[in-house]
Amino acid sequence: MIKLKGIAASSGIAISKAYCIGKEEFSVPQKKISHADISREIYRLEEALIETRRELFALQKRIADELGFDHARIFEAHLLVLEDRVLIEDIIQQIKYKKVNVEYAFSQSIQKFVKTLLKLEDEYLRERVIDIEDVSRRVLRKLLKKETLSLEDLKEKVIIVAHDLSPSQTATLPKEELLGFVTDIGGRTSHTTIIARSLGIPAVVGIEVATRNIKPGDKIIIDGYEGTVIVNPTSKVLKDYHKKLAKVTREIKAIHIPRVVKVHTSDKREVVVSGNVEFPEEIPLIQEYAAEGIGLYRTEYIFLGKRLLPTEDEQFKAYVSAAKKVKPHSVIIRTIDIGGDKFLSKPIVPAEMRPFLGWRAIRFCLARPDIFKTQLRAILRASAEGNIKVMFPMISGLEELRASKKLLEECKKELKKEGKKFDTRISVGTMIEVPSAALTADALAKESDFFSIGTNDLIQYSLAVDRGNEKVAYLYEPGHPAVLRMIKDVIEDAHRNNIWVGMCGEMSGEPLFTLLLLGMGLDEFSMPPPRVSRVKELIRNVNYSDARKIAERVLSFTTPREVERYLQAEAKKLLRDNFERLIII
Ligand code: PEP
Ligand code: MG
Repeated sequence: MIKLKGIAASSGIAISKAYCIGKEEFSVPQKKISHADISREIYRLEEALIETRRELFALQKRIADELGFDHARIFEAHLLVLEDRVLIEDIIQQIKYKKVNVEYAFSQSIQKFVKTLLKLEDEYLRERVIDIEDVSRRVLRKLLKKETLSLEDLKEKVIIVAHDLSPSQTATLPKEELLGFVTDIGGRTSHTTIIARSLGIPAVVGIEVATRNIKPGDKIIIDGYEGTVIVNPTSKVLKDYHKKLAKVTREIKAIHIPRVVKVHTSDKREVVVSGNVEFPEEIPLIQEYAAEGIGLYRTEYIFLGKRLLPTEDEQFKAYVSAAKKVKPHSVIIRTIDIGGDKFLSKPIVPAEMRPFLGWRAIRFCLARPDIFKTQLRAILRASAEGNIKVMFPMISGLEELRASKKLLEECKKELKKEGKKFDTRISVGTMIEVPSAALTADALAKESDFFSIGTNDLIQYSLAVDRGNEKVAYLYEPGHPAVLRMIKDVIEDAHRNNIWVGMCGEMSGEPLFTLLLLGMGLDEFSMPPPRVSRVKELIRNVNYSDARKIAERVLSFTTPREVERYLQAEAKKLLRDNFERLIII
């Protein structure tokens, strides 16, 4: 048995087998073959190609059944690579004339192919590199007879163990088969954490040595409260954890999920508690947990894991479907936020030294009006449903907001000319997640219809702590007085300018901060859907006037520790027996 310590990223307990996802690096041996071996090597190539084709068809069918045909189209390009006559001929030539083994010939030809494509001007062709690399890994796995446990063959739910999970990997994981995530890197608001929270499964990230210590099939326990992972536990530990799991499951079940969507404090201050959504599969959770609509639709996930950018019509369909599903409540569609830890394929967004400070979100969109306007047109057309709002991420100052709104107006004009319907008075929101925006919120409020505070980024930028770096995760403090002062000022600036202000960063779903944010005057809380019920229960059980006093007191503290200790003590007083159930679990 080994116990590994990491960051408690998403609460919960899971006990199951480890499913390890690696960044496969193959070492391909070069062997000389004799003339007599040539036909055998060519036969092995054909076999591997046929098997890979079969595997891809099965995968395509599964994705089409689960997510729809559009998603399954990503495999079309993969299949085409397997049929590329030039490529196959090149491999055969090498086997015949250079007399090398098929694995080596195959990897040499692929490398040549990739190099040529990367030199091309044509973006579409350069983008095929990703498909080619993916397919070649599949074929090499067959040729080298690498043992791979396929997710499709799983008979039981598993815990995913990886160095890190890319957004496109999580986009294609079968969500219903997942019990939890364990990663070497990451922090409390990195991509994997956000997905785990949205799916309501535990995650321990930033372990650093998880992949070195956990083998495929190992029995593991994730404790998402303590941030620990136990590998191959003794029967005593396993028994204790089964008991703990049963207790937690009972407690969670006891959280009342009200059918009533609206919520107010006991002295009748109404606030909105809505949900964050990344994948279309999460939209039913909005209703399941009785959230008041979608407060953050992270649209970049529609773009990730795809070979081609989604068209205006594809996006339009996705937005209309979300709008219809959450009616009569609204959907706040955030325009794409790529960069940071969410990348499109390399040819579109080149790798950067410091992606969180680089070509990200609105900066990318304003530089690529072709991509941005396609999305804005799709959002506007969908807004004819009547319950859509739009918001811009990573705004750092008024000029970016104005430039974004100008493009939105251009799209409106185009659509009007084309006779297409849209909501002419669509609300436009600004995300406040860069300190410069927080400090100039007064000016931004005058030209926005609402604000949504993105604390995941606001914290990382104001405290200079990379949100995905486990080494500095201990400094990532939502309760830091610098962060709290900014939040309070943003709320006041918004209210002085008569606009409402929400929060869609993870902090809004942390029950410990609910009282504080409520007392500061926050109007909307948007969070992973599984968190909605407990935050609503908390709000229903407190007085706004008490929360205001608590907020006032908290703002006089000078360290995050003092803030947290005080909030815990106040919550304990107010919630008494319900404290553990609502705040801790
Ligand atoms: C945030 O920064 O708080 C936010 C909600 O956006 P994301 O986590 O997608 O960067
Ligand atoms: Mg953000």
